[in-house]
Amino acid sequence: MTIKKVTSHPSQNEALIFERSQEGRVGYRLPELDVDETGIDEIIPAELRRDDDLDGVPEVSEVDVVRHFTRMSTWNYSIDLGMYPLGSCTMKYNSRLNEKVARIAGFTNLHPLAPEGESQGALRLIYELQEDLAEITGLPGVSLQPAAGAHGEMTGVMIIRDALDEKFGEESKNRRVMLVPDSAHGTNPASASMAGFTVKTIRSTDEGLTDMEHLRELCDQGGIAGLMLTNPSTVGVFERNIKEICDTIHEVGGLVYMDGANMNALVGVARPGDMGVDVIHLNLHKTFSTPHGGGGPGCGPCCCTEELSKFLPKPAIVKDGERYRLDHDRPNSIGRVKAFFGNFGMMIRALAYIRTHGDTGLREATEAAVLNARYLAAKLEEDFERPFAPDPMHEVIFSHKRQSRKGVHTLDIAKRLIDYGFHPMTIYFPLIVDGAMLIEPTESVGRAELDDFVDAMKSIAKEAQEDPDLVIGAPHTTRIGRLDEATAARKPVLKWTPDMGKQAEAAG
Ligand SMILES: *Cc1c(COP(=O)(O)O)cnc(C)c1O
Repeated sequence: MTIKKVTSHPSQNEALIFERSQEGRVGYRLPELDVDETGIDEIIPAELRRDDDLDGVPEVSEVDVVRHFTRMSTWNYSIDLGMYPLGSCTMKYNSRLNEKVARIAGFTNLHPLAPEGESQGALRLIYELQEDLAEITGLPGVSLQPAAGAHGEMTGVMIIRDALDEKFGEESKNRRVMLVPDSAHGTNPASASMAGFTVKTIRSTDEGLTDMEHLRELCDQGGIAGLMLTNPSTVGVFERNIKEICDTIHEVGGLVYMDGANMNALVGVARPGDMGVDVIHLNLHKTFSTPHGGGGPGCGPCCCTEELSKFLPKPAIVKDGERYRLDHDRPNSIGRVKAFFGNFGMMIRALAYIRTHGDTGLREATEAAVLNARYLAAKLEEDFERPFAPDPMHEVIFSHKRQSRKGVHTLDIAKRLIDYGFHPMTIYFPLIVDGAMLIEPTESVGRAELDDFVDAMKSIAKEAQEDPDLVIGAPHTTRIGRLDEATAARKPVLKWTPDMGKQAEAAG
């Protein structure tokens, strides 16, 4: 069925606000002007006054505006609406309390250039968050400046580079190889390359672990600056040889970077610092209260060993007695990586998250996140191929292998899930799994919701066998079916002009 484009049907298509415009319609009425206009030139010079008729601004009433935007707001899928199983994004629900705390006027109204003496509360908050993250990661050096996960990576590999330069002097320029497993997040090789390293890829085993033999082989080839490793990996598997991997890299003089974006699987249970990791970044906008994927600000703290902490970005926030201050006098620092202090609002949310959970709460959240992913793994492996055998951590990966024999692919399954009322999982990532479906339920879903999701997935698996066209043609319940996503991304139409409306009318 094609849906006719109507201007005002709540559950159907919605015209653009420009297309709803009717000449002369307004949302206000002002009293007649009862003052003399002479003399206006002295108040507002002519060149600053517009003389056009506000051409192109939609002429609509107040209720037109309210209903238009309210209707569209109901088309969004959101974390407040239901499960958001987008693997690698940790789309957990976060307490409203954290938002409330982030809106405390003393924080929101504080100017970033306010003197230290008047910013003690904010500096203390940053300092205490640093302390908490140091405790959680087992890495005492912390900078909250980086504004994204990838930015934290960049900061971390720059620290590695400076540390190697200091340790090896001239010889350091022969150490420019950064090892990155083939299961890595794409940002890892990108960050390494931007920091001047050459990337060499390490193979993964059938179990989704780092191939230790290949790792040793690459180490033997020399020139090793370090290794960047996501743990748990992007296929949701905990790297159980992590200690041995760290030892192997340290033996050849390199440093170990751990991508900690998946820390939701470890908080309160295991600490990267204890595993031998030297540098890590966290994604506060995943694990610590700000949801990922909204396109909003991020915070990707960089944490490192005591030994490396002198290289962290400056200024550092330090405590002298009972006072907090900015320490600019850090000659070994890689420098500033972000204006002011980073994205402060997210730090408030993160501290509220950590303090309201407490030690046991953080651990429980981790355990629930892992349990939920394992529950899905166990329930769905009958119907979908699970390429790696080990029990997953916070997320579980499947492939479309069984369904693709019937011509049903990952994209089709994801689109069909929309008909069942769920936000799709992450698809075609990571690249080492053909037709990957990466599912991360997080700790924010209960048993009943997980079972609903399992039912939907099982039902789609059945449809794929019995009526593949139903899945291939999905979604069937949305206003717009399959988009030409490549064209939408490559040639986006971002501006409406009146003749576009006429063209659309002519085209019917
Ligand atoms: C999300 C993620 C990143 C990148 O984080 P951004 O904030 O998007 O830059 C890096 N590594 C892993 C494993 C991730 O999941």
